[in-house]
Amino acid sequence: MTTWANLRQVRPRSWSRGRPAGKPRIIFIHYTAGREEPTSAEDGAVYDRRRTDGTSAHYYVDSNSVVQCVDTTNRAHTALYNANLVGIHYELCGTRQTRAQWLDAASRATIRRAAKQIARDMRDNEIPLKRLVNRQVRAGRGLAGHADATFGWPEDHGTHTDPGAEFPWAVLFDDIEKELNVSDPGGGDLRKYPNFKAWYAPWGGDVQSLIYWFTQTRPRELRAEDAQNRKVGKLRGDMDAASTDLQSLDARLTELTARVDALSPPPDPPPG
Ligand SMILES: [Zn+2]
Repeated sequence: MTTWANLRQVRPRSWSRGRPAGKPRIIFIHYTAGREEPTSAEDGAVYDRRRTDGTSAHYYVDSNSVVQCVDTTNRAHTALYNANLVGIHYELCGTRQTRAQWLDAASRATIRRAAKQIARDMRDNEIPLKRLVNRQVRAGRGLAGHADATFGWPEDHGTHTDPGAEFPWAVLFDDIEKELNVSDPGGGDLRKYPNFKAWYAPWGGDVQSLIYWFTQTRPRELRAEDAQNRKVGKLRGDMDAASTDLQSLDARLTELTARVDALSPPPDPPPG
């Protein structure tokens, strides 16, 4: 089991248990053909819980987070057959772009995020930092794009060409190389947490999703909103009360003024 403790876990509807072809040997890069917003990774993962077309990925990556959907010792349904069998699949949030667009702030940050996690999966599965092109995916170990799966296994009859000809592989490789050269403080495989199974099991191994769904409903924000509404309601009430007080004070003032007028001597007659 390789489920990374520091990553948000959101299980999709569709995936396959186990790796009949042995440990994964290729990291596959995809793009979602969708948006590149800060919540796009979360949105993509949540969508995979609902969609009924049998599609999923191991990871969704956007500019500020990586969401893990499928344990890397299991198969995500990101490609057709062979690539699912041997690959760990990364969906980068965004769509077909020019090289310059891949290097804009959002995409650059997404590539960096992906590199950090890719380095972990490479260590975990002894995958070398090597680019596999087209038919090299049939036997090699390394990194490739969905397009290489399409051309490498023509028998799968794939059509996808992501991440596109202008994807900056060298930039990704530089980022990965840096990550491979630093120690990994934030990660850790969940299986290394001795008590994990005990509290993980009752929910069918999906407690992280459960936690995520609780955060998705944002009880904290809702509670904050309720408190805010209560405050506004109380202020409105106070204002109404103050307004009523003001009206009665005004009436009292009118009454007192009338009494003062009654007690005052009549005005002098006009000078004749
Ligand atoms: Zn793809």
